[in-house]
Amino acid sequence: MAATILDGKSIAMQIRMEVAEGVLRLRETTGVVACLAAVLVGEDPASQVYVRNKEIACHKAGIESRMFRLPASTTMEELLGLLDRLNQDDAIHGILVQLPLPRHLEERRVLDRVDSAKDVDAFSPENVGLISQGRPRFLPCTPHGVMQLLHRCGIDVAGKEVVVVGRSDIVGKPLVSMCLQKSGPWGDSNANATVTCAHSRTVDLASVTRRAEILMVAIGKARAITAEMVRPGAVVIDIGINREGDGICGDVDFDSVKEIASAITPVPGGIGPLTIAMLLQNTLAAAEFAASA
Ligand code: NDP
Repeated sequence: MAATILDGKSIAMQIRMEVAEGVLRLRETTGVVACLAAVLVGEDPASQVYVRNKEIACHKAGIESRMFRLPASTTMEELLGLLDRLNQDDAIHGILVQLPLPRHLEERRVLDRVDSAKDVDAFSPENVGLISQGRPRFLPCTPHGVMQLLHRCGIDVAGKEVVVVGRSDIVGKPLVSMCLQKSGPWGDSNANATVTCAHSRTVDLASVTRRAEILMVAIGKARAITAEMVRPGAVVIDIGINREGDGICGDVDFDSVKEIASAITPVPGGIGPLTIAMLLQNTLAAAEFAASA
């Protein structure tokens, strides 16, 4: 039987409406207008689109957005200086630095400079540590989007065999960390999984992925996960975004895997829209922290 398609787009719309209500409530009760600063260095076309989409999403949610578009020739000192100013500006609650940065800029040093109380991507060592200890301040946007989708679709991860393919700092590792906790954002049911993480050095990937009751894939390889690699009845979460002609496709071979999975996220229309929704939610949370400080 063909899988249920998990509609990330409509769940993201719902979350964005909830955020818009929260933004309005915060403004009416405290006078604080939630504000996100986005820093884009260079001319990468995909990054320009991502930043523009984030700007539009902020606007629709009533969040003020301040965009800092810097030339590719920007030096470390200039970029760190800008981040210092944004860190000190009380009117700015969230700061994001769009990745990738031009090669001459040291990504880790740049991300480390963002004040952790404004680090709405949850990339700072402090925020990563808090997540790992099960007491997050912010949850990273894409993994949080995955957990939101599962929760809102009534899919528990507790007690399940979860396999995460990919171990990046922004997707794979935080997903592993979140599934492993004793308690999730909505209680025990979206934590407490038995988690395996696979990567490019995993031997016999298919034998690992076939164990998964919930399979989460973030590797950046178009349609790499095929039906033979999926356990019948598994829930398959495809986080990949791969450019293909004018469109995009995921890391999962959607057409074959949907025939064997019980539920699957499409690309586009799955996890992508949730990532932006969670960025808005983190910005609201940062503004609420600031208002209550
Ligand atoms: P990275 O390139 O940082 O990490 C990729 C990971 O996949 C690495 O851990 C790598 O292993 C592993 N990997 C690569 N090839 C294979 C393979 N053949 N078999 C098993 N593991 C493999 O990517 P990101 O985590 O940043 O992104 C992954 C995908 O998710 C991309 O398509 C990206 O566009 C997408 N993405 C989507 C988002 C969304 O909003 N939906 C947000 C962020 C990312 P190793 O560590 O050994 O090199």
